[in-house]
Amino acid sequence: MPLPRARVVTLNAALGPLDYRVPDGMAVKPGSVVVAPLGPRQLIGVAWEADRLPTEEIGDNRLRPLAGVVDVPAISAPLRRLCEWTADYYLSPLAAVLRMVLPSSSALAGPRQMIEYRPTGLVPPRLTPQREQALSRIEGRQGTVRELASHAEVSDAVVRGLVNAGALERVEVDADQPLPEPDPDFAPPALNAEQAAAADSLISAIGSGFDPVVLDGVTGSGKTEVYFEAIAEAIRQGRQVLVLLPEIALTEPFLTRFTARFGCEPVAWHSDLRSSQRRRAWRAIANGDAKVVVGARSSLFLPYANLGLIVVDEAHEPSFKQEEGVQYHARDVAVMRGHFEEIPVVLASATPAIETRHMVQIGRYRELQLTERHGAAEMPSIRAIDLTQDPPPRGRWIAPSLVAELEANLAAGQQSLLFLNRRGFAPLTLCRTCGHRFQCPNCTAWMVEHRLMHRLACHHCGHVMPPPKQCPECGDEDSLVACGPGVERIADEVAELFPEARTAVVTSDTIWSPARAAEFVHAMEAGKIDIVVGTQLITKGYHFPNLTLVGVVDADLGLQGGDLRAAERTFQQIQQVAGRAGRGDKPGRVLVQTHDPDAPVIAALVGGDALGFYAAETEARRDAGMPPFGRLAAIVVSSEDKAESEAVARRIGLAAPSVEGMAVFGPAPAPLAMLRGRHRQRLLVHAARKLDVQDVIRDWLGGVEWSSKVRVAVDVDPYSF
Ligand code: ADP
Ligand code: ZN
Repeated sequence: MPLPRARVVTLNAALGPLDYRVPDGMAVKPGSVVVAPLGPRQLIGVAWEADRLPTEEIGDNRLRPLAGVVDVPAISAPLRRLCEWTADYYLSPLAAVLRMVLPSSSALAGPRQMIEYRPTGLVPPRLTPQREQALSRIEGRQGTVRELASHAEVSDAVVRGLVNAGALERVEVDADQPLPEPDPDFAPPALNAEQAAAADSLISAIGSGFDPVVLDGVTGSGKTEVYFEAIAEAIRQGRQVLVLLPEIALTEPFLTRFTARFGCEPVAWHSDLRSSQRRRAWRAIANGDAKVVVGARSSLFLPYANLGLIVVDEAHEPSFKQEEGVQYHARDVAVMRGHFEEIPVVLASATPAIETRHMVQIGRYRELQLTERHGAAEMPSIRAIDLTQDPPPRGRWIAPSLVAELEANLAAGQQSLLFLNRRGFAPLTLCRTCGHRFQCPNCTAWMVEHRLMHRLACHHCGHVMPPPKQCPECGDEDSLVACGPGVERIADEVAELFPEARTAVVTSDTIWSPARAAEFVHAMEAGKIDIVVGTQLITKGYHFPNLTLVGVVDADLGLQGGDLRAAERTFQQIQQVAGRAGRGDKPGRVLVQTHDPDAPVIAALVGGDALGFYAAETEARRDAGMPPFGRLAAIVVSSEDKAESEAVARRIGLAAPSVEGMAVFGPAPAPLAMLRGRHRQRLLVHAARKLDVQDVIRDWLGGVEWSSKVRVAVDVDPYSF
């Protein structure tokens, strides 16, 4: 009689599927989370259907027995199919995908009771610099000694010392305490006719199978209110809901609105959770207690017990594209999850991506439109400022006509927003004497001056250095100049122009946590801020009724460099930031500074011709065979050794198969030729829609070898290149 065996996928991407013997009395089925011995180690893995993962068969007598089954629900068949699809489509190891399903070892094996610590407010008499740093960073937080120490970047001993000194107190946490239940009937809004029609359509989709829906509504039209009704219906039917948000900083306003509608907060899933919160959330998701989960893209792979609806909010956002590890696009994977789970997926956006619009056009997704702002609010007017005709004075970036508008808005007691998608004070520091430029030692990128934090920083690898006092090249002391503006510099300009105005800078440097986002929202709502200067962080989600003027400082910024999506992204970004203006009863106006008011993007924005713009962009892509009409994949070869990265990239290039409908460009230095100390070469694959380009690339790369110092990553459907 054959022994019962199990094929197990572990979380170790270097290992293929492994076979084990299932000991008598151990109940293992596909999806069971198991403990599998390997050498002296015990690995966590998931039992899989053996026929779906062909591997070398091992004789029964050589099989080791499984060590145990973890006491959590089995990974469901739809989720197993999603993992397989993701691994196949994005050319990634199944184990790497599975790590997103089982991201928390504490959820699987950790204790239910945990000891955490939080500040008491007491300042210890002996205050070393280390202790001071720890206390200031720990403020308002709670966590284990390890978590607090790593958050504060001090040793565990410093944190323990603070506990002994009475500055931190012990809290016992029960990681499995029950969650509050959102009440679908807590505070339903009165919807207007257009909203009600869209909501009814979504409500009837719950429980009726796979149904991808684009909720295309102008900014301020009430998309959130509409999909909240679909969430309410899913809760009534006892199903779970996942809401994907593009940015963690956006969760706070979302949580507030959700609580107002449903009476309690949803379960949040993001990288900043403590391990006790992580365990509690993961387990509640897996056993069905977590009714509504809001999270960043990684929450897409969690093992929901009975998912009934997925909402992707701001579905056009680039941040849904994961650029490291498994390089997936969360918007597209969300639709695939909906397909396997047989549930509706709502893609909500005021500016749906061309790919998404195309799916509507060919009838694969349906579309619900909201054409008007809710209540009395009107769409804002958009006007271009031609910087060649109306230039700012030397060393300044705000044109006289925009200054006048800001002044008028201040006098009227209304709020204004200046948008520039560039963090820091200046993107480049230059020596006037010798021309030296400060470059990152690890990346092909300039060091960006951050005056608020007193340093230069690389935006790609995080390398920082103190602000230089003299030029390292020629030694000159007064020769360093900041070139170009970042948001901090615009804020300085505003302070000089309007010393009495209260300004706030909103970037990931100032809003790094949901709590900081909440502070900012409260200050805006209380009228304590007159002028906001912000990056793309400010373009989405926020609703400030008294904000009536938006100035786009440099509309040309995103149009440089021939990226496929440059025009589309500029259009979306300016539409979104314009959408912050005039959301209350006062009308909004938007001024767009540009050197080229005749550029099609700017003309379309000013003329309000979104459809014309999208039609022209779509045609251009069709003519060039670009996505969504053709497919792209980038093969990036990287190594700390430049010559080696070039050699391997060349070998891969020479091994390229000749396949009808496919063309290979490169190798050439990747757009960021050096990143985090690794030299990067890139090959770009352009293929016809119908070609199974993944299959071709799998075979192709399978025939080339490289040393372990070289990394070859394939980015299928690269977002920017
Ligand atoms: P969008 O996401 O489409 O930009 P929101 O859902 O944020 O729009 O709605 C804009 C504002 O209008 C929010 O403050 C929201 O609470 C309010 N609102 C929208 N619809 C209604 C409604 N039917 N009743 C009351 N307030 C509404
Ligand atoms: Zn760098």
